[in-house]
Amino acid sequence: MMRIRALLVLGALILPIAVPAFSQNPNEDVPDSSVYFNTAVKRPPAKTDHSAEIERLIKQMTVEEKVGQMTQLTIDMVTTGKDQKVEIDATKLDKAIVKYGVGSILNVTNQALTLDHWDRIIRPIQTAAQKTRLKIPVIYGIDTIHGANYVQGSTLFPQELGMAATWNPVLMQRGAEIAAMETRAAGIPWSFSPVLDVGRNAMWPRLWETFGEDPYLATVMGTAFVRGLEGHDVSSSKHVAASLKHYVGYSYPLTGRDRTPAYIPEYALRENFLPTFAAAVKAGARTVMVNSAEINGVPGHINKHLLTDVLKGELGFDGFIVTDWEDIKKLVTQWHVAADEKEATRLSVMAGIDMSMVPLSYSFSDNLIALVKENKVPMSRIDDAVRRILRVKFELGLFDNAMPDASLRANFGRPEYATAALQAAHESITLLQNKNNILPLAKNKKVLVTGPTADSLISLNNGWTYVWQGSEPSLYPKDKPTIQAAIAAKLGGGNVTYVPGTRIVRKAGSPSNNNPTNIDEEVDIPAAVAAAKAADTVVLCLGEGSYTESPGSIEDLTLPETQLKLAEAIIATGKPVVLVMAEGRPRVISRIADKVAGIVLALNPGNEGGRAIADVIFGDYNPDGRLPITYPRAPGYFPTYDAQTFGAKPGEQFSPQFEFGSGLSYTTFAYSDLKLSSKTIGNGDKLTVSFNIKNTGKLAGKETAILYLRDEVASITPPGKRVKRFAKIFLNAGESKTLTFTLGREDLEFINLDNKPVAEPGDFTVMVGGLSQSFTLK
Ligand code: BGC
Repeated sequence: MMRIRALLVLGALILPIAVPAFSQNPNEDVPDSSVYFNTAVKRPPAKTDHSAEIERLIKQMTVEEKVGQMTQLTIDMVTTGKDQKVEIDATKLDKAIVKYGVGSILNVTNQALTLDHWDRIIRPIQTAAQKTRLKIPVIYGIDTIHGANYVQGSTLFPQELGMAATWNPVLMQRGAEIAAMETRAAGIPWSFSPVLDVGRNAMWPRLWETFGEDPYLATVMGTAFVRGLEGHDVSSSKHVAASLKHYVGYSYPLTGRDRTPAYIPEYALRENFLPTFAAAVKAGARTVMVNSAEINGVPGHINKHLLTDVLKGELGFDGFIVTDWEDIKKLVTQWHVAADEKEATRLSVMAGIDMSMVPLSYSFSDNLIALVKENKVPMSRIDDAVRRILRVKFELGLFDNAMPDASLRANFGRPEYATAALQAAHESITLLQNKNNILPLAKNKKVLVTGPTADSLISLNNGWTYVWQGSEPSLYPKDKPTIQAAIAAKLGGGNVTYVPGTRIVRKAGSPSNNNPTNIDEEVDIPAAVAAAKAADTVVLCLGEGSYTESPGSIEDLTLPETQLKLAEAIIATGKPVVLVMAEGRPRVISRIADKVAGIVLALNPGNEGGRAIADVIFGDYNPDGRLPITYPRAPGYFPTYDAQTFGAKPGEQFSPQFEFGSGLSYTTFAYSDLKLSSKTIGNGDKLTVSFNIKNTGKLAGKETAILYLRDEVASITPPGKRVKRFAKIFLNAGESKTLTFTLGREDLEFINLDNKPVAEPGDFTVMVGGLSQSFTLK
């Protein structure tokens, strides 16, 4: 404990070496967030400089070979069969790798594969690459989103929104490190994660893939994710290359639906959506994936300003940029910015794209070869792309050995990984309401568990789980309990009844309110009501089924009527109700929220979620999750926390269902002695903020101190407040600790209308745990 305490006090001074180890005792403090987010944190230089080898290769390569390196195909282009029957097809493989010299393959054919099965896929692909003239290895990429979710038997963590609710970057780094080891064990060196889109539109069906609405929290957690995936040495067989996605502005569609237009002026883009990417590039991320939609009328894939000038120029990104799925074709079919695919190819390559996730044809290669031969794309642009791709392949060690390595299976599925995933699930569960201290429940009373998410590992995991949509029950592990199973195991069968009441049924079809992907159906609400009458307490599990990308688009955030009907029927029995929400975005519950005693927000905690929820409900874990989003009260009004003070009419109260940052504990914490090192600071001065937190209750617990700053007057409307630092600490009953944060000039800055960071003189207010103090910037 001493070591960490010293860290908290020293703050920014010892940053680069203070990055914590990869494991954490659950009772340990998490260091100040500045350890993860500071301009001093840069990736270490690559172990070896491969530029000479890269240039030698580029000199020898034909146009066809270069364009081959820039081409990425999906697994179906080299295999036959589906699901568990997928196998390499020698003829297709030869065409892709030997004839076209394709440099990258991605994805699964629907389903997660075993380690043995991955070996049967990856080994022949790399063997084929060895048959090519220059023997350049293939880089295989996969969506390792919340663990190695496309490898059977891997360890699954909470989805990113749940990880954000932990406010624990040490756990995030650990989770990503485990995900990297389990992905590499399958012979795959590249992950399409983390999602660094900041989740500022609650409707967006990919909200649960983000770290929530706050750019600072998302930056800290995103940087931790990159560190865990890539480590200090990405060539190590324990690490994989990251892909930051989806650059940039994808998460803020005006309509809330996936892959629809956003309108974000550049100053706001730089304030809210660019910082996550900028910090992760600095932390060393090797690849970036592009926004599939458009902002300000320009599709992400042809935005030269953002891809080349900002990402590669200003941010100094030296890895490679990959398109998202089929997005060059969509420039023609969806966005109508090019009349044909050849022109779309020219526009996107000239905008800065280095690799195309084509992924189902050879059109990209054919078009690009023709464009080069017609001098419509200069060789210098092609060489730049190939140089970037080869650099990553060298850095990953693929030229030394690209084959799956059976010895890495020792790094797969270890019991301590499940312990880490359980800790993450515990810390992600957020207690939002606890009237009359209904929670924790006694273990010797009769409980009814009901609702459509009570017996569903699918709702606990959501998408990117064994299949893209997370929707295939047969692939889920048999030994991980759902919520109702975990409660039954804890209490013993006699005291627990499970009656579903309603269920969520998956339907294929166009996702709209009239034809949603997930349909709620009644099973037997009267049976649930009868069981409630016979119980002392009801644990009512509501929320969502699984969905990923466009199939998850909806037109109304309100919880479906069938679930509200079940809830109201249960509430009408007069029995105390604890509501558990397993969901990927905040479905509106204002009709029932005040009528239930307890509300536990589970989000998507992963396979350990059932146990974690049961532990929280029955007091075996003292909850410490904090909301990483604003939980709206109404389906048509979902502002973010930082929009709250200004811009409202005088007297108008910001009143969401639950505020960003909220979360209760079974103990109580008191903040005191907020002190600033100075009342006035000059440009470039540091300001030290210290305060005391005491555990004033009877139980040990963790508290996340969130420090906000408000710029009182600025030349453009300032946010009501903004997170600037946080730290999660462990306190025994009666214990107190002093925390010290150091703020610098960059913490006082905002992006002005010239798109430049400025700190304007004037008054600022520091807020933490209900205390506040002001200071003046001279
Ligand atoms: C998604 C990406 C994903 C890619 C590859 C796309 O549809 O938008 O997030 O990485 O597919 O699976």
